[in-house]
Amino acid sequence: MTATTAARRIGVGTALPALAVVPLLRHTIAVHAVPDDQPWRTACPCGKPLWPHAIGTSGRCAGCGVRVGAPPYAVEAATLAGAAGLAVSGLGGFALAGYAVWTAAMIVLAFVDAAVMRLPHRITAAATAGFLGLLALGGPAGAWVRAVAAGLVLAAFFAVLAAVSRGQLGWGDVTLAVPLAAALGWHSWTAVYAGVLLGLGTAALTAITLRCLGRLAPETSLPLGPFLIAAAYTVAVWP
Ligand SMILES: [Zn+2]
Repeated sequence: MTATTAARRIGVGTALPALAVVPLLRHTIAVHAVPDDQPWRTACPCGKPLWPHAIGTSGRCAGCGVRVGAPPYAVEAATLAGAAGLAVSGLGGFALAGYAVWTAAMIVLAFVDAAVMRLPHRITAAATAGFLGLLALGGPAGAWVRAVAAGLVLAAFFAVLAAVSRGQLGWGDVTLAVPLAAALGWHSWTAVYAGVLLGLGTAALTAITLRCLGRLAPETSLPLGPFLIAAAYTVAVWP
């Protein structure tokens, strides 16, 4: 088998399972991308149930054409990119399964936070339980303990920031800190510092740039989740 054939096989073996989970991710995003004071969405405004009417690549309801999900092809692109990183990460076995579950949940959280500035606790809890549960089944015990410790330390740190920042950092960000720091902490404490600083740094730089360009009003803030998630993924998954 030539190198090109091997690469092609890895590519197909990665892209197909990734695209197979996209409808589930799109559905989960559409359910949870609703403002704080509203119940989870189960149907399109036209009455058609989200599944299977609003899980296509366009993000639009097949019944009435209204967009009720994430932007067209965005979840597909994020999932393929996430799977590509996992494929070349060098992870295997339960560690690969743990990081795959984590990546899928983080994609949902990033899209929901970007849409409605909300990080639903049930998805954060599922990400934490899935990641730590799978990593407990395989992999070094020391790394698992460090992952749990990192999650608790960063959540405590974010809780202090949330209390003093009065709304700049939400409680969704505090709970997100647990699976974020766990995924980074499984590698090392250095990865935790690098991932968190990269996330906060890119968020701050983006906010400053948008403000200078007049694209972000002074009293509004950016959702922090997508920045923290992209940075944690970059440090924790890419080799
Ligand atoms: Zn509809």
